[in-house]
Amino acid sequence: MSQPALRCVGLTKTFNGTPAVSDLSLEVEEGEVLALLGPSGCGKTTALRMIAGFEVPDSGEVEVGGRPMAGPGVFVPPDKRRIGMVFQDYALFPHLSVEENVAYGVAVGNRLFDRTGRRRRRLRRASRVSVTLSLVELSHLRSRMPHELSGGEQQRVALARALASQPHILLLDEPFSNLDAKLRQQVREELREILGLSGVTTLFVTHYQEEALYIGDRVAALNRGRLEQVDAPEVVYRFPATTFVADFVGVADFLTADFRDGEIHTEVGRWPQAAPPGDPSDLKALARPDDVTFEPAEEGQGRVVARMYQGAYSLYRIILDSGEMVHCSKPGLETHPVGMQVRVRLKRGRRLVCYQQGRAITGPGAA
Ligand code: ADP
Repeated sequence: MSQPALRCVGLTKTFNGTPAVSDLSLEVEEGEVLALLGPSGCGKTTALRMIAGFEVPDSGEVEVGGRPMAGPGVFVPPDKRRIGMVFQDYALFPHLSVEENVAYGVAVGNRLFDRTGRRRRRLRRASRVSVTLSLVELSHLRSRMPHELSGGEQQRVALARALASQPHILLLDEPFSNLDAKLRQQVREELREILGLSGVTTLFVTHYQEEALYIGDRVAALNRGRLEQVDAPEVVYRFPATTFVADFVGVADFLTADFRDGEIHTEVGRWPQAAPPGDPSDLKALARPDDVTFEPAEEGQGRVVARMYQGAYSLYRIILDSGEMVHCSKPGLETHPVGMQVRVRLKRGRRLVCYQQGRAITGPGAA
């Protein structure tokens, strides 16, 4: 087995008696992009800062490429960790051109690893700046100053500067937070492509679920300083390990469910399943908008209460006879009026993930 690029074991940090990060253990494989996802205040930045060396953990360990960086009796300062960091505000040097900002990154990398002669070093620096600028498609803007660039371009310079130091791991802290919605989409795609081309191991922090699902090879979901699930995006979305994760990574409705005769029954359908282990009265099933469908029906058990048009599709909110709500997505061109009586049912062959006491009891995400 190869060594993970990053390993955190039991990382814990408390501020004024309140835990910001509790017992965080995770591994990022060589070349992998891991998205650390969670709501504001859940401890993402604190975790990142402990990994980068800007914060000393109360307990736990950090290893980069198999080398201890923080732990009992060990603390390697940030500039010796071989970690590249892109901050929310990009932190470019305003008095240096694009090229000089990137050259700074190369110089940082050289100071750490390059023991070749000065002339060779200079040549290498020039070529690495060029290669990195072309990777982020900024070669044509190499002489510009940061204030002459758009937000997306500034971000690519920050990324290039971090990559130019040839870090063992790249840490990105909410890298899109300063961009408007349209630009975010574009920059997100560019970032994913650049990370793929560079092959750099990346830990990426965000509170936007679509960003985590799109960019991460795996997604790590953090809630109040605790990791609740680390899995491929599809697994995190389809089989959330907890009701918190289910709710955070997309539209989630929890339907009352009960077990009878080898089947789970809900108001929108039933499916065969083994008997749940715990309290039979504490059973909820997770319905995503694409798990259910509906059609107009006078005697149906649902009524459309809202339609949220999104262009390509519409999200319908439907109230069921029991008073529970369920969301359903339909193609944007299909229109059903608010107030319409409908029959709601599970799509053919669907089984919903069931939860007891907030934890999944079925599916790959189950405890
Ligand atoms: P996130 O990045 O997920 O928004 P943070 O890691 O910034 O979360 O913060 C986690 C919690 O720790 C928050 O409650 C925050 O107020 C607290 N916190 C973070 N840094 C400090 C600090 N230096 N001093 C005191 N409390 C802090």
